[in-house]
Parts: sequence; C-alpha cells; structure tokens
Amino acid sequence: MQEMILVIEDEPEIADLLALYLENAGYPVRRAETAAQALAVLEREHIGLVLLDIMLPDTDGFTLCRKIRERWLFPVIMLTARTADTDKITGLTVGADDYITKPFNPLEVLARVRTQLRRCSSYNTGCQRAAYEEGGLYICRETHRCELFGKALALTPIEFSILWYLCERHGQVVSSEELFEAVWGEKFLDSNNTVMAHIARLREKMGEQPRKPKFIKTVWGVGYTIGT
Ligand code: CA
Repeated sequence: MQEMILVIEDEPEIADLLALYLENAGYPVRRAETAAQALAVLEREHIGLVLLDIMLPDTDGFTLCRKIRERWLFPVIMLTARTADTDKITGLTVGADDYITKPFNPLEVLARVRTQLRRCSSYNTGCQRAAYEEGGLYICRETHRCELFGKALALTPIEFSILWYLCERHGQVVSSEELFEAVWGEKFLDSNNTVMAHIARLREKMGEQPRKPKFIKTVWGVGYTIGT
C-alpha cells in the first residue's frame, strides 16, 4: 500500500495535474483548497506526505506548515510561484523538507515525492505523528512532554512509552503482551504483572478514578485502550 498524499492547492488546474501524476504512480490522493480543509483532512486520514502551496485563500503555506509540524512528522514539500530564495529559507525553517518552484515538471515532483517517502521510511519513525492531543491530554514525542489539562505530568520513560504507544494506536485495544514487548523489548511471560502495575501508576499520576478511568481504559480479558 502506497502512502496517501495530501495536495493543498487552491488552483484547480495545478491540483488536477498533481493528482493525475500521483494517482498514475499509485499514490492515493486527497485534496484541500484551504488550510482549514487541509487540517480537517489531516485529522481524519492517515497522510504520508503533503504537497503544500504557499499562497492559499485563508492562510499562507508557511503558517500552515508550522501548524502541521506541531503535530505531524511526515514530509512536507512546498510549492510556490515565487522564486525568491527567502521563500525557500522560510519554508525550510518552518519545517518543510523540500521546495519546488512553479512552473514545475510533474515528473520532477514525483521524483521528489519518492525521495522524501524513501527517506522517511528508512528512518521509519519519520512519518509518524509528533504529538497527540485529546480530551485534555497532550503528549509530544519530540519534546517528551506530557500534559493533562495544561499541567505537566512527570512520567518515567517507561510510563511515557506506554502512554505514547496507546495514543499512537488510538481507538485500538492493545494487549498486555503487545505493550510489554513494544515498551520493554523483551518476551512477555504469562505471569507478568509489570504492565498492570505500570498502568496503575500511570492512572494514579493522571488522577484517574480507579473504577472509572477516563483515559486508559481496561478491556477485560483483552488489554488496554485510549480514545474510545
Ligand atoms: Ca495558490
């Protein structure tokens, strides 16, 4: 399965052209004409790369790029009609990975897309989300910061990893076995209560009511889940 690409571009001819070439190359494409639409798509879909036009009707691409970077780490390639070097520098400082000047050759765009996706998959963490936020819980992998209703939570590295792992699998049920093997990197044994003990400690730090936890929920006989 190829990564899904989001084309953020308000000029229909350019968006059509990009979508045509990307789809022919096998990439599923989503389109947005404004920053607001783009953010809505990003929330909903699992996007692997963004092509971002600088001149958008509701905001500029630099501001949008900065917003994207607060939460996601997939590659961003900026598109612009302007050729000034300052645009390129600004684009890179707000977190873009590459830069293409209009008018462009669609085959070149495709080549750059492939390069970025390859770079991303070879680091394998590169395309994942940088931070997660829901219902008052904020967790950022980049800064290793976790907040609950704006107050920092002092988590151990293990607790942080457990919470991050569950957040990344938002809505899915994760078994103790999977959690243990992912976080500790060791084979899980049946009699192992380590995960349960750490979850209990984590819930305590989050001020959860033991019988009615709001964040990390127990699915009896199956495992743990966040976000359902
Ligand atoms: Ca435009």
